[in-house]
Amino acid sequence: MNINTNYQNISDSYLFSTIAKKVNEFAVANPDKEIIKLGIGDVTLPLCKIVVQALKTASEEMGVKETFRGYGPEQGYDFLKTKIQKYYQQHNVELDLNEIFISDGAKSDLGNILDLFSSDNTVIVPDPVYPVYVDTNTMAGRKIVYIDANAENEFLPLPDNSVKADIIYLCSPNNPTGAVYNKEQLKCWVNYAIKNHAVILFDSAYECFITDENLPRSIYEIEGAKTCAIEFCSLSKMAGFTGTRCGYTIVPKSIENGLLNKMWLRRQTTKFNGVPYIIQRGAEAVFTPDGQKEIQENLNYYKENAKIISETLKKHNIWHIGGKHSPYIWLRCPNNMTSWEFFDYLLKNVQIVGTPGSGFGKNGEGYFRLTSFGSRENTIKACQRIDKMFEC
Ligand code: PLP
Repeated sequence: MNINTNYQNISDSYLFSTIAKKVNEFAVANPDKEIIKLGIGDVTLPLCKIVVQALKTASEEMGVKETFRGYGPEQGYDFLKTKIQKYYQQHNVELDLNEIFISDGAKSDLGNILDLFSSDNTVIVPDPVYPVYVDTNTMAGRKIVYIDANAENEFLPLPDNSVKADIIYLCSPNNPTGAVYNKEQLKCWVNYAIKNHAVILFDSAYECFITDENLPRSIYEIEGAKTCAIEFCSLSKMAGFTGTRCGYTIVPKSIENGLLNKMWLRRQTTKFNGVPYIIQRGAEAVFTPDGQKEIQENLNYYKENAKIISETLKKHNIWHIGGKHSPYIWLRCPNNMTSWEFFDYLLKNVQIVGTPGSGFGKNGEGYFRLTSFGSRENTIKACQRIDKMFEC
């Protein structure tokens, strides 16, 4: 056999292992110091009560002969797809049920969708970026063109007509920067994609954090997007499903006269056997009026944390974006420190752990990501320590 040598081109992911190593070394050397972690990208609040109840009820059904279910439809049960269809209608987006595919989360589908595209396609990836887009394309040997996201463009790069590409990744609200595209900016990308016969892979995993009615939560709010964009969304951050696993992918039938929709269905029915019935019942509960109310309380909790962090940074004149429509706060390291220098400085002086921006790409150098997924108590404590740090 010959191995896929493209794997040799994937850079080892040292970011989170290096963070863990440094934190561990510090903890061993300073057992009396309490470390606060504001680097995590995982949620901390538990599942909503209504979701837990739905999971329990569905589990009971699976233990009764009359209600037991075996293999389900690979693309998801209609009871969940119907709820997602209605969720999109709230933003004036009409979807056919067979354009909605239930998945076990956005990450797998973001990688799996590449099965549909030739490996000689060129891919546009913004830098800094969620590393999955880069690694999955590197594994397939695709050429990647990076576009700069930086302070000048407020970390929202727009298309450059002199650059030709076939596949475009956009993530809004963005991980790691928290930046959100407005409708006019997304329209530029849709126009570019149509002109270049390219496809946009739109990652909306954090759409639920958007509260401004004028900001698009789905790329399909933009005219023409249904002819050129595939959207990936997830219940991970929306409803605390990071360990429960459920998401959905929208493949419109108006791209390539339905060909991509047909190919994705064929791909999924061949390589995937669907998300467990129990989990889909839990996900269905998220989209009920009570479920939406309960998840909103959790989202508001994280958003309040983000506000507390942002106000603290503002007080000390630290340039930052994000936090308003996103759980991520992206800040410029003070005193021209590099990302890792600031990481070490925070850990040593105030025992706060964040994520060095340089771990998300070259344009992340000199920046730092904090998240609002911690507890309120720890967020306040961390901000008090930051206050003290600047008093010194
Ligand atoms: N997309 C982005 C931008 C993310 O940050 C994450 C997770 O952190 C995902 C997708 C993956 O989500 P899921 O848990 O649904 O696989």
